Amino acid sequence: MRRRSYMLALVVLFCGSCLRLQAQDTLMQHYAKEISEAGLKENLTILASDFMEGRETGKRGQRMAASFIRAHFSDNNLLAPVAGDYLQPLELYRVTAGETYVQAGKTRLENYKDVAFFGMEDSGGEMNMPILFVGYGEESVYQQLDVRDKAVLLLSKNTWVGGSKEVMLARDRGAKAVFVCNTETEAEFTRVLAQGKRYVERGRLSLEKPNTSEHVRPGTFVVSPHAAGVIMGTTLSGLKSAAEKKSLKKIKSASIQFRTSIEVASVPTENVLGLVEGTDKKNEILLVTAHYDHVGIKQDGTGDVIHNGADDDGSGTVAVMELARVFAKARREGHGPRRSILFMLVTGEESGLLGSEFYAEHPVFSLESTVADLNIDMIGRRDPKHQTGNPYLYVIGADKLSSELNAISERMNSTYSKLDFDYTYNDPSHPDRLYYRSDHWNFAKRNVPIIFYFDGIHEDYHKVTDEVSKIDFPLLRQRAQCVFYTAWELSNIEKRIVNDKTSN
Ligand SMILES: [Zn+2]
Repeated sequence: MRRRSYMLALVVLFCGSCLRLQAQDTLMQHYAKEISEAGLKENLTILASDFMEGRETGKRGQRMAASFIRAHFSDNNLLAPVAGDYLQPLELYRVTAGETYVQAGKTRLENYKDVAFFGMEDSGGEMNMPILFVGYGEESVYQQLDVRDKAVLLLSKNTWVGGSKEVMLARDRGAKAVFVCNTETEAEFTRVLAQGKRYVERGRLSLEKPNTSEHVRPGTFVVSPHAAGVIMGTTLSGLKSAAEKKSLKKIKSASIQFRTSIEVASVPTENVLGLVEGTDKKNEILLVTAHYDHVGIKQDGTGDVIHNGADDDGSGTVAVMELARVFAKARREGHGPRRSILFMLVTGEESGLLGSEFYAEHPVFSLESTVADLNIDMIGRRDPKHQTGNPYLYVIGADKLSSELNAISERMNSTYSKLDFDYTYNDPSHPDRLYYRSDHWNFAKRNVPIIFYFDGIHEDYHKVTDEVSKIDFPLLRQRAQCVFYTAWELSNIEKRIVNDKTSN
């Protein structure tokens, strides 16, 4: 009797949990269907419109995008987890060039007119030193000339001088400042100058306040053919003939004064966070992320200047917004996740993963309580490798820190979303190094298991042509559903996944 009743109880128990599981599955599928193509499209059409001006970090467009996402979280009744707000403010710093000039004898050579300084460096006042002409700057030159603590002027055929071999060699031989003439005409120089000006004017963003008294990035003066002549007291053809005849000593050493400086400006920006609070395991957090910033307004020669970033990463942003809406709805209807889900759209990704770095350093919920980060960066397009064929998705990093996470990701996909998972980029030593190139990396390097979802590098990557009209919305929806299934499972399973491989 006892035994029998025990057996009976087991059967009842088994079927009960079986039904519960089935009900869970049906519920999950019901809510996955709620992820709507129309919702994704509506939000992306706004986020990637010209009005958002390419969402460059710290600019008006990025702030408008932040307000838009915040309103979405608020309208859908997500909790505001940053001391009652959805915005996590952070301060970045932009370094740009300050007063920079060259003085050769009585002639003042202005930056971005006669010379172009490529670099971010503060000379700490006006410098004064001898300058030697080193021809084309080959190795043999330095056997005759001691350039230590002097400036050098060299001729180069490289259009990009930043890290060119001859510049590196001159520095290596102790030159304190390097002047390069790499053009033959003033018209050619004007083009180089425009390129340099664009590069330097955009500046560089950082989380840490740069110390202006330190060299931020050693630079090189690119000089016009005319300025090269002025500096050495001759003409470009005089310099060229001395270099070609290897009679460098014909060009007398001169003296040069110059100054470089940098300016540091504060750039306020913000991450946007919305929380769906869990039920019985609410202190454990699943993180779902994408970056909402992009590269803003830049000339790229096509006439259009606004980089709308519809795929990068408008697609990930609207997928996260849609998942947030659906999980919040499930919760309102009594089917919320057991663990809490923190939906976070980060800023500053394009400037070096800065928003996610800030969050990882100042998490609202400790990283120990964060079970995983599902990061979406570009999921709205097909790449050249998968122009046709089954719907696919690159999955990166799932197996790096937790074998359980990888198993769940595989199982949810083979049972429900049925995409072709492509693991090409999962290899951390792949030359494109994608494992290190989006916001998940800031969590992975702190040992939080991650998955990075990605559609590949396509012809419009970081171009003005990354527009809404090129997004494949049915595919975007399928991929968002794929992330949804894994998020549902991770936030509802009995035991949180463990990190069983603590190294990257
Ligand atoms: Zn991106």
